[in-house]
Amino acid sequence: MIYNQILIRLGDLTLKGKNQNVFLRRLFNLVYEKLEGLAVDIEIQHDRIYVQLNDEDVNKVIERINLISGISSYSLVVKCSTDLDDIKKTALSLMNEVVTKDVKFKCETKRADKSFPLHSLELTKAVSGYVLANNHLLHVDVHNPEITLHLELRRGQCYIYNTQIRAMGGFPVGVAGKGLLMLSGGIDSPVAGYYAMKQGIEIECIHFESTPLTSIESAQKVVDLVKVIAKYAPKNRIKLHMIPFKEIHMALLDNIPESYNITIMRRMMYRIAERLAKRRDCLCIINGESVGQVASQTLNSMNTINSVTNFPILRPLVTFDKCDIIDRSMKIGCYELSIKPFEDCCTVYVPKAPATQPKIEKAIAYEKSFDYETMIEEAVNNVNSITISADSNIDLTMYGLEVREVIPEILKENK
Ligand code: ATP
Ligand code: MG
Repeated sequence: MIYNQILIRLGDLTLKGKNQNVFLRRLFNLVYEKLEGLAVDIEIQHDRIYVQLNDEDVNKVIERINLISGISSYSLVVKCSTDLDDIKKTALSLMNEVVTKDVKFKCETKRADKSFPLHSLELTKAVSGYVLANNHLLHVDVHNPEITLHLELRRGQCYIYNTQIRAMGGFPVGVAGKGLLMLSGGIDSPVAGYYAMKQGIEIECIHFESTPLTSIESAQKVVDLVKVIAKYAPKNRIKLHMIPFKEIHMALLDNIPESYNITIMRRMMYRIAERLAKRRDCLCIINGESVGQVASQTLNSMNTINSVTNFPILRPLVTFDKCDIIDRSMKIGCYELSIKPFEDCCTVYVPKAPATQPKIEKAIAYEKSFDYETMIEEAVNNVNSITISADSNIDLTMYGLEVREVIPEILKENK
């Protein structure tokens, strides 16, 4: 392969004003972290990053670049000197390697380095003339090219490339502060977490676990999902907070009319999430809700559920349809895990006819039937928190116990 570098372009820096430096520092740290362990050299400039490939497998490098939010695009490039003959020969070698059939061709020059003797147009003409004369598969078409040969002169070097590949985009994860992701074992919430990170929000996760009403496998699934999305996070790791939810879950089953069960369960979840979010310095709660998907996600339900908090709730998937969500879930490697058939607290004992138009007043009245304040306090105080990294191997099922007993064991072992 002829390429010896990857040129990385950053997001739109003009938008960041004074925060530009914070943005850049975050992004550069991410690039160093994600490319760690590869035999590449990284050179950082104001608004670009050059990755010298050395002998590293280019696909491995690209795979890692695709995990970095805040990168808008990248190109595989060949770097050569600014000697005109060298530029011509390198450009021709590149075209000879990538062109296998007749194609419409165009050449473009960017001359950031003004010390170069030829002007952009002169260089374009000289190089395209040479390349066209020596590769007969190329035919000039400046309006509708199938391939564009880019020449960029910068800092005494010439960078030559023919592709510009879109990267993850968004902002460097962490630049926007931290949010608490409500993570179930389903398809939606890990995808919501991905979009939050893509937009610069570092996440911690909260999961409401009802073992042994629900299986230990359902909790393991959540751990496995965190592991998958951790590859996008700073330092490749994410904190998961397991909230013991069994007591509240049972109180709901005992005291609340069936049709309001899920409505009130979700009000409890929001209350707990808000408390934990504040304790963990999170500035918002994030979840995988999408309008109309289930009874608890009608606009009426969302009103009644959301009314327990003023805390910002972000719903990155709110207008996505299921196909879009599944598409993304597959791309980020969560789908196969998410569809494993283990029930979590929202899917066991589901009411046959859940309320789709629940009323706030009714919800409040039903909630008076048990002392939820104390139970919430207790649940938050007994949270089990584990840090999960992309390469960790946490197997809860090995223990065959309730999650709240298993996690302290794991924490002890990892000490
Ligand atoms: P998902 O596919 O993410 O499970 P869903 O469409 O099945 O979502 P619900 O089960 O109603 O919808 O949950 C809506 C959102 O509430 C989820 O996306 C998630 O953010 C949050 N949530 C649901 N159950 C839990 C749980 N046990 N722990 C933490 N968050 C949860
Ligand atoms: Mg669910």
